[in-house]
Amino acid sequence: SSSVSRPPLSFDGSVRQIKENMRWLPGGVSSNFRLGIAPTPLVFERGEGPFLFDIDGNRLIDYYLGMGPMILGHSPAGVRDAVKAQADKGILFAGQSAVETEAARRVCEMVPCAERVRFGSSGSEAVQGALRLARAATGRRIILKFEGHYHGWFDNILWSTAPALNAAGPEDAPVPVAGSVGQEAEAGGGIEVMAWNNLARLEARLAKGDVAGVIMEAAMCNAGAIHPGPGYLEGVREACTRTGTILIFDEVITGFRLSPGGAQKRFGVTPDLATFGKAIANGFPVAALAGRADLLDLFATGGVVHGGTYNAQCLSMAATVATLEALTPELFATLETRGTRLMNGIRDALAEAGIKASVAGFPQVFHVAFGLDQPARDYRDLTRINRLAYVAFTTALLKRGVRALERGAWFLSSEHDDAVIDETLAAVAAAARETKG
Ligand code: PLP
Repeated sequence: SSSVSRPPLSFDGSVRQIKENMRWLPGGVSSNFRLGIAPTPLVFERGEGPFLFDIDGNRLIDYYLGMGPMILGHSPAGVRDAVKAQADKGILFAGQSAVETEAARRVCEMVPCAERVRFGSSGSEAVQGALRLARAATGRRIILKFEGHYHGWFDNILWSTAPALNAAGPEDAPVPVAGSVGQEAEAGGGIEVMAWNNLARLEARLAKGDVAGVIMEAAMCNAGAIHPGPGYLEGVREACTRTGTILIFDEVITGFRLSPGGAQKRFGVTPDLATFGKAIANGFPVAALAGRADLLDLFATGGVVHGGTYNAQCLSMAATVATLEALTPELFATLETRGTRLMNGIRDALAEAGIKASVAGFPQVFHVAFGLDQPARDYRDLTRINRLAYVAFTTALLKRGVRALERGAWFLSSEHDDAVIDETLAAVAAAARETKG
């Protein structure tokens, strides 16, 4: 159904449309993370499987995948049909629905920590609920977060985050860096920032007994794609239990992507609370806060408030059920095989072109870092990436019909088959040669 575009592609239509958009949309876009893309933010008409079609008529193999959600690719028939059928029954009731119950049951069956779940619309919101529960349950104030881990754009947690790649203070005592102009400085008073993957330091800090919660990406996917060190998650789990600290895994990227049960299932470590979004509903605005019944039930009987007009909106719940239903073990096995092939192919092509780079992470979401000759072990390693060269590379890729994030992350869907991966690797080889030369 699709024609192969011949390189180099032109994006003049997008350039013109973004310029016109600026009359109504700041920067021509609706999220800061869609700004400043080279050669231009793109304007799309349609998505299908692994492909996006832009207004210049280009067919692009897409590795943004909505920045993570589209694990089944663009517009999968199962999700589309479920949403259409639900639209005939109703959109929003400010009440409960059968489809919400079904979504909740599935989340609780798939995710180890999930005894209860509350639905919302964005990962940022779900994180706020988790922080509130941790403070309510412990009566403590401090939340520990880690350098480079992103937990949404709200004032109280947007500190020392990727993708800014900024770091301040010594590595063993990072100074929190505000992520935005206009951010309330006092909002950082309730958080402390530490280096991730260092158990001894975390244990020493928790021993004081005044930390409400520890929040982390169980595998760091917003900056690089960094594995937890051997025994790290287990050690964090033990230290939190010992000190009465609530352990929160932010699984907005890893959930329903690293395995059907998320990072916690893949690594076999169960947090007290976990937040989900993105792949849970293949592009519909759904987030979930899941965890221990005694914690989640504080929303019902503990005076802890959690609201949201659009929570468990029916179309989104239909998309959730259809997506979770599709996330079979076979699908994950396929993602592992194809993603591994893609990672190896990229690694070989870059080496062949004489580009020093590391390709690390997971077959379902990995990271390509120019300038590193071995995988990053922590956030500070990533501050040494050759970012400009990588942007030249993604720009060269885009001209050849492959769209990959400038920050180095690659997301994979079930629709990226071997033929699509072959086509990708041919573009990677050519783009690598161009970038090098
Ligand atoms: N947590 C993590 C780990 C994320 O990657 C993101 C978004 O990228 C968020 C939270 C925020 O989610 P949302 O953009 O849906 O508010």
